[in-house]
Amino acid sequence: MHTYQVQSGKKITLKDWDPADLSLWDKGKKEGIKETEKLVKELQVLQEKIYAQQKHRILVVIQGMDTSGKDGAIRHVFGLLNPQGVFVKNFKVPTAVEIAHDYLWRVHAHVPGNGEIVLFNRSHYEDVLVVRVHNLVPRTVWQKRYDHINQFERMLADEGTTLFKFFLHISKDEQKERLQARLDDPLKHWKFNVGDLEERKVWDEYTTAYNHVLSRTSTEWAPWIIVPSNRKWYRNLVIAKILVEKLGKMDIKFPDPQSDLKDIKID
Ligand code: ADP
Repeated sequence: MHTYQVQSGKKITLKDWDPADLSLWDKGKKEGIKETEKLVKELQVLQEKIYAQQKHRILVVIQGMDTSGKDGAIRHVFGLLNPQGVFVKNFKVPTAVEIAHDYLWRVHAHVPGNGEIVLFNRSHYEDVLVVRVHNLVPRTVWQKRYDHINQFERMLADEGTTLFKFFLHISKDEQKERLQARLDDPLKHWKFNVGDLEERKVWDEYTTAYNHVLSRTSTEWAPWIIVPSNRKWYRNLVIAKILVEKLGKMDIKFPDPQSDLKDIKID
């Protein structure tokens, strides 16, 4: 089992998990970036096969506090894959139509089909995170959602979807630095969202909500990975490494040609 994978049924307290941990890599940042580049090349080959084979469905859920690097991880780890077979879905505040349905309605519509990799930038987990922290629905309603989510993901897995769930773990100090950097650099101003300051005030409440998510929804069919994300390069390395390792163990290969090609002659 991987070091950062949350064992099913284990009670998680994030303060016991070091967001600056680097224990999978002891050769420093420069070599770490090179290693990630190598892994991304392997991921490209795997994705081409997934796309050609039209068999596997890969769902990657990415969650984390504001500024934890969800966008950066998507860009660095998946940015060089073939856009024909990779889709990103961002989950924002639900629209009027979405909110008029059950919370999984908008999610189910975007799960991957055969040959596809879909990245969820935020996900159905918002429905037990922001919704819980801000009391957007009563406790009796969101409390039932952990079980729904486990069953929903179980159904996806039973029907042939492979799930990866990455929680990007940063410290509150690191968030402060990243918010400050967005204020200081005009090229990052567009990323500065005043609302993030309000969310920062309820950091502890979010931490509690994440502790529950990680403790209650890490299952054998859809385990959570807690990615130490204070260092961006290490975050990318860990995500790429886990994907390559796990996909590498699956039956991912180019399909056989439709007929015997050796006798074909092109005039
Ligand atoms: P991001 O922070 O992901 O880059 P935004 O700044 O647009 O993008 O933030 C999206 C917002 O939508 C987040 O504050 C998130 O908590 C919120 N959100 C996502 N899903 C839900 C939901 N189901 N209910 C309420 N708010 C949600």
